[in-house]
Parts: sequence; C-alpha cells; structure tokens
Amino acid sequence: MNKVALITGGTRGIGKQIAITLAESGYDIALNYRTENEELNETKKEIENLNVKCFAVKGDVSSFEECEKFVKEVIEEYGQIDVLVNNAGITKDTLIARMKKEDFESVINVNLVGTFNVTKNVVPFMMKAHNGRIINISSVVGVSGNAGQSNYSASKAGIIGFTKSLAKELGSRNILVNAVAPGFIETQMTAVLKDETKDDIAKSIPLRRMGNTKDVANVVKFLSSDDSSYITGQVINVDGGMLM
Ligand code: NAD
Repeated sequence: MNKVALITGGTRGIGKQIAITLAESGYDIALNYRTENEELNETKKEIENLNVKCFAVKGDVSSFEECEKFVKEVIEEYGQIDVLVNNAGITKDTLIARMKKEDFESVINVNLVGTFNVTKNVVPFMMKAHNGRIINISSVVGVSGNAGQSNYSASKAGIIGFTKSLAKELGSRNILVNAVAPGFIETQMTAVLKDETKDDIAKSIPLRRMGNTKDVANVVKFLSSDDSSYITGQVINVDGGMLM
C-alpha cells in the first residue's frame, strides 16, 4: 500500500510541485483546494498520470470546521495520512501605516491559524499510527522580517514556533515536524513583483537567481522520506544563501 501525503493549497505553485514530486516518489496524494477551477483539474490529471491516486478535498484552511471535514474525508478514502504539508498561504503586503486590521487578521488566519486547523485534525491519526511527518511551509521573512510584510512575517514566524513546539510534543510518538523556509521562489505569488525588483533581489542572492518550485519540493521530499528520520524541529532555508 502506498504512503499518503496531504498537501494544502496544492493546485498551483509550490504546493502543486510538492504534490507532483511526492507522487513521483509513489505517494498517493490528498490534494486540498479552496476553489474548484482549471488548475485543480490540471493538477489532478498530472498526478494521476504518475500512476498514483489523487483525491481532491475542498476546504478553506482558515475554517476549523472545513478542515475537520476534509481531513475526515481523506481518512475515509485512504485510511491514513503519513505526510502532511501545510502549504496554503496568502500575502497582503503593505506598510503598517496603511495596513487594515482585516489585512493583518486574514493573513494570520490563513497562514498560521490554517496550519493549526489542519494539523490539529491530522495529529490524532498520526498518533494512533505512531508515525507521521509534518512539514510546514514558512518563509525566510519569518526569520528576518521584511518591511511591508509585518502580517506575513508574523504568520511565518508563528509557524516556526508552532513547528518547534510540536516537534518537542510529538517526537516520542514518532511524528517528525519540520519547517521549510523558502526565499524568493518563482510562482504566481511573486509574479506581482516588478521585473526591476526581481532583478535587484536576484543580485542580492549568493546563487544569483530566484528559486523554482522544484528547489522547495525536493527538500519536502527529503523531509518526508526515511533519509531524514533523525531530523525534527528544524527550519530548512531554501533561499540560495539569501539569509545567512
Ligand atoms: P500561490 O499563491 O501560487 O499558492 C498558494 C496556494 O494556497 C494556492 O493554491 C491557493 O489557492 C492556496 N490557498 C490560499 N488560501 C487558502 C485557503 N484559505 N485555504 C486553502 N488553500 C488556500 O503561492 P506559492 O508561492 O506557491 O506559495 C506556497 C507557500 O509557500 C505559501 O505558504 C507561501 O507563503 C510560501 N512561500 C512562498 C514564497 C515564494 O517566493 N513564492 C516564499 C516563501 C514562502
């Protein structure tokens, strides 16, 4: 029987590449999405072409009830969740002077509370199985901070604290919890940046380029595998050396 990986926000960008990379490694995939669209159908098709199962589950991670429902659906379908990747995330960048309360709250609710909502519902099944990997997608700005991203940086810093605390709580249950902190990765999230800004960013990175989704997905694959069985509570930067 294949191992099962649940990826939140898995229909595009980094989440999609994580789903495909784990599917290539033989995992059956549970793909969480928020809205049904062509991206979902495309991703599902690409995963199924890799000869593994892809079960798509709808749900907004910022709603505890919806997470409870879709985690239950995954368990009913597959009977287990071996790997959880908390990937769903949003940005609402602006300086504090212009930031509305809702801009702060919505980013915290999706990125940080969403990570709690899904994890809280998955952990009981991992505890019962005495087995599990949880990989939370943070960001380098959760460590360094970034002007114009106080909401996003706070949510990603929160994810790091959450990761380390759970690693301590769940280690004795053979559940390993790590965070991956990408730098600047080429996705729709960063497509909004001007070319000039992207060039400036690339110049400031030791490897002189933005990352791609595979750079991140390969680290998630490693953290899901037996090769990383003595690693927990860590934050792995995937940033071309940007933050050091
Ligand atoms: P993206 O915008 O392309 O993808 C985000 C995904 O999350 C989308 O599929 C979206 O539908 C989903 N999502 C958003 N809100 C959701 C919700 N409430 N419920 C369920 N799904 C939801 O962005 P991306 O660049 O692929 O980012 C993926 C993750 O990586 C995010 O957590 C992001 O913060 C993080 N990250 C990205 C970068 C980067 O440079 N792109 C850098 C550091 C961290």
